[in-house]
Amino acid sequence: MPAAAPTPKAVLHQRFGAKVRYTVEEVKEAVGGCPGLAPQTRSVYRCALELPGLSVATPGTFVRKKDAEQAAAQIALDKLGIQPIANIPSTPEEAWNELITRISGFFIDENFLSSTHPLVGHLSVTLRRTGDLIGRVPLSAIAACDVKVNTLCKVIDPKAEFDPLLILSLVYNAAKQSPGVSVSDSNFWIQSQKPYSPEAVDLALKRWSGTSDPVEVEAILVPCVLEDELKIVRINLRDNEHYMSYVAEKLTASDSSHVLVSRTIGKASSEIRLYFAAPDVHFVSDLSKNVLACHGDGDINCQVNKRASYISGQTIYGDALLANIGYTRRDSELHTEDVNLCTYYRILLGKLPDGNCKMSRDAILAAELPSVYSRFSWKGLSPRDLLCSFCRNQRLSEPLFAVSRVSCDMLTSAVSSEERGAPAKSVENQFNDVRTDKENSDSFKCEVKICSRKQEILLEYSASDTWSKESDAIQNSALKVLIWFNNYFKQINTKRDKLYLSECTDGFKIHPNIFLQEFVMCLSVYGNTGCNDSGMCSAVGPFSMDTLKKHFESTTTLTHIEGPDSGVFPSHGSLTCISYTASLVMKDKAKKYLLESHNEFEFEIGTGAVGNQLESCVTQLSVNQSACFVAELPPRDLILAAASEFSHDLSNVSRESCFLEFSVKVLQVTEPLEDRMEKALFSPPLSKQRVEFAVQHINELHATTLVDFGCGSGSLLDSLLEHPTTLEKLVGVDISRKGLTRAAKSLHQKLSKKLLVQTTVPIAVLYDGSITDYDSRLYGFDIGTCLEVIEHMEEDQASLFGNVVLSSFRPTVLIVSTPNYEYNPILQRSAMPNKDDEADENAGPCKFRNHDHKFEWTRAQFQCWATDLAVKHNYSVEFCGVGGSGEEPGYASQIAVFRRMARDLETMCLNTDQDQPYELLWEWPNASIPV
Ligand code: SAH
Ligand code: MG
Repeated sequence: MPAAAPTPKAVLHQRFGAKVRYTVEEVKEAVGGCPGLAPQTRSVYRCALELPGLSVATPGTFVRKKDAEQAAAQIALDKLGIQPIANIPSTPEEAWNELITRISGFFIDENFLSSTHPLVGHLSVTLRRTGDLIGRVPLSAIAACDVKVNTLCKVIDPKAEFDPLLILSLVYNAAKQSPGVSVSDSNFWIQSQKPYSPEAVDLALKRWSGTSDPVEVEAILVPCVLEDELKIVRINLRDNEHYMSYVAEKLTASDSSHVLVSRTIGKASSEIRLYFAAPDVHFVSDLSKNVLACHGDGDINCQVNKRASYISGQTIYGDALLANIGYTRRDSELHTEDVNLCTYYRILLGKLPDGNCKMSRDAILAAELPSVYSRFSWKGLSPRDLLCSFCRNQRLSEPLFAVSRVSCDMLTSAVSSEERGAPAKSVENQFNDVRTDKENSDSFKCEVKICSRKQEILLEYSASDTWSKESDAIQNSALKVLIWFNNYFKQINTKRDKLYLSECTDGFKIHPNIFLQEFVMCLSVYGNTGCNDSGMCSAVGPFSMDTLKKHFESTTTLTHIEGPDSGVFPSHGSLTCISYTASLVMKDKAKKYLLESHNEFEFEIGTGAVGNQLESCVTQLSVNQSACFVAELPPRDLILAAASEFSHDLSNVSRESCFLEFSVKVLQVTEPLEDRMEKALFSPPLSKQRVEFAVQHINELHATTLVDFGCGSGSLLDSLLEHPTTLEKLVGVDISRKGLTRAAKSLHQKLSKKLLVQTTVPIAVLYDGSITDYDSRLYGFDIGTCLEVIEHMEEDQASLFGNVVLSSFRPTVLIVSTPNYEYNPILQRSAMPNKDDEADENAGPCKFRNHDHKFEWTRAQFQCWATDLAVKHNYSVEFCGVGGSGEEPGYASQIAVFRRMARDLETMCLNTDQDQPYELLWEWPNASIPV
């Protein structure tokens, strides 16, 4: 065998086969050349390479074509993060020859005496046998415990990866040609042709203590019939017999040579595998290397075990046994571990898009896949890692992330700056440093591709959102893809047809044929489950739309809260630390099983990181208070995955007879840094200063109409009602229903009171909508405010809002405020004089004031954004701020005041009834308060 490392091209070929396309381009290059003489040229080459989802090219040129190709292949390998594994043959013929040699090698005495190979364990125990089985090893043991054999089989036939039966056939046929070993014609035993040396036998006997008691191991029988329940099986292992003989008994296989073994399931280090009886394989004796190519349409008259195939990603026939038994390199003794129902259901859970998120937080019942990513509050495995493990568990290729830089093109030109009113600061002066600053703050997009093992693309996600950090772009895109899969899995039956319908929705492009081919097992395991809630033991799959809907929509009414009200409540965006227990309680109260508990479980309110019921409970408690509530019974699979030692007891409990109870205590609430600082460090608080700033402009303008873009819970509108102003109409717009509802309540209250003492109170309206959409009902208002909102949007959305508001809404004056990034060091220093108390923010990268902020701009960045908008839409702009003196490093909160250029409104088109995307939520004096 050639021992040289494989070339980059060979490695790519192994992975991608004919899908690798090399394009070599010839380039003429001048060489030497003396003055006065015609320049001489020679040919050099550069190479471009294309793979599904990736194309690269050599940056330089090469004298030889093949060097250019190898260089391109190496670049592709680096991009894909593939390490070439040494000594893997690149052609099926080479692999076949090596397989034959390798099998012989296992049975050579010298190997036996010195090796730590797991096969030595198998051999040793078979040498303790008596009769004609002495020294005989099942061929499938070789396939199971030698990685190289598996790799070689995959090179011979890529289908081997998914088919233990095919591996057995290949090993069987190779072994027939292996010198020094003999293979049975009617069974799948292999043994050395000549007897082992006495030293070898001696060693085999020494490895065994010979006196140890039988070991009992628990395993799970996964019946082939989908409707049949899993069974717990106990295997008694005695050390004078090969363990696969006992496995064979449980499977009613004729002997252990007829037991097939899957790859390991779960962690790479585990010995959890599926064992199953070889289907009627009379065809094997006809198998030659050539016949193998068309394997698959063979006459296997045995049923595919869908559940077992699904969890292993390989084709498993008939009843299968899930057990954790085997020889490893770590230990010469047989490794055994119980596999119980909980193990099985955790493996199943690990295959779901949100399963690893729940398990990585060790909170199967409490944690949910959050709907938003924030570097600061994300707990457990990152979205990227979660997506990678999801793909791995679904036997797909590693996801491909392609990050691209989007250069920030906010500065179109500086020409018309003189035409504008008189800006408070000279705009030109800022252009230069602004521009360089902007170049450094390019943003990033990230596309994701999900491919099958054969590198066929099945899903593409292309985001329009941009992020200021590369890692944020990757994590957010990964999360989007995970959420997409999560929704798909939750409605696996109904979503099936939709795959064909929508070529491209929300940046997703699905390739239905490849997609369904890869997820066909999911469909047969989870689809058509007829999963009803009537009995815990009747359903196979965890998905019932109804259960899930209820699970997400329900809120919690707390009947009894313990502990005094400390006044500190978890609010939207705050990091909250709780302790909790989740127990399954029998309705007759006869028994209570503690399923899950945490002493410290931290999550951000409002991100969907826990179930709705739990969050609803937590937001009703203040710090140090606790309460219990009865939760929706989660799907059976989840209960069993959480149940660990009780999983056996619970497998037969019916859903009617039990309920789930959460007991929760709020330990600590960390408000977003912003809120704490604004209140503590400024007097009056910054929010109040912003209100006063707005009031001043309202009065200057004698404004009668005002719209607050991103009004949140209405703090500005609310305060304006307390000031005597000229306003006759106040409107708020927001996308947060929660915020709007709160705003409606407090405005309603205030206006009702006001009506008692005053005859004229203003009209007030709240709309639910995105401020990046134009709504003609808000056209041409006197004043628009947008306070501390844009930094909650992605940068491109903030620009979109700027364009929409100045080009379409066209308020006479627009006031926009946003944090000044340069002020943050001052805030952070004074907010946290005591480092220990706030170790979190100090140690961590929490540079922003709020977890929800997508960016925070320097003065230059903000002024660049605003100036560009003003120029484009014929407004003037002035800069000011609140908080601090305004000297270096500027105000804490920076403000831009845009003024529409005179006599320009009339030329604009007026109200049409067309553009009214906003939903009217509440209106004073006509509407009632929304709930
Ligand atoms: N202006 C308020 C709220 C600031 S918090 C105040 O000063 O107190 C930011 C608000 O912007 C949130 O209420 C959020 O829901 C809202 N928001 C973010 N993106 C939005 C969008 N595209 N359309 C409307 N509101 C948005
Ligand atoms: Mg903010």
